[in-house]
Parts: sequence; C-alpha cells; structure tokens
Amino acid sequence: MPLTSEQLEKLKKWFDSKNISLKCSTCWGTKWTPGEIIAATTYKNKLFEMGRPIVPMVQSVCDYCGFIKLYSAIRIGIVN
Ligand SMILES: [Zn+2]
Repeated sequence: MPLTSEQLEKLKKWFDSKNISLKCSTCWGTKWTPGEIIAATTYKNKLFEMGRPIVPMVQSVCDYCGFIKLYSAIRIGIVN
C-alpha cells in the first residue's frame, strides 16, 4: 500500500525526531525514497504461518543501490 501524504509527513517527522542516519549501509548513499507498507509472514517448521497477526512495515529504499530498510509502521504511528 503506497503511503498517503499524511503518512509521508509522519515518517519524515519520525526520522527527524529519532535522528535516523540516512546513510545507506551498503553504498553510503544518502538519498532515500519511501516505499510502501508491507507485511511478512513468519516461517516455522518448514511452513509459512498464515492467519497470524502480522507486523506492518514501511520501506525506505536507497535511490542509488536499491537497498531497503524496514521500519515498524506501528512504532512510527502511520498505521494503527
Ligand atoms: Zn545504497
């Protein structure tokens, strides 16, 4: 799900309030593009567990190398 303008603003304010480093850990680039809100399933006993509560995450994508950082969308407050 793409971020709304309100969610983008909350993300930027959260990054600023936490003094988050914008340097990419693989290429040291400093330009990022917010991605989408995604969720992952957990893997246990050779199976992906479906139907369990999930953790919504927001992507931050390095503009140079494409490395993706993931942050808890709940912790940031962009989803409930
Ligand atoms: Zn990078």
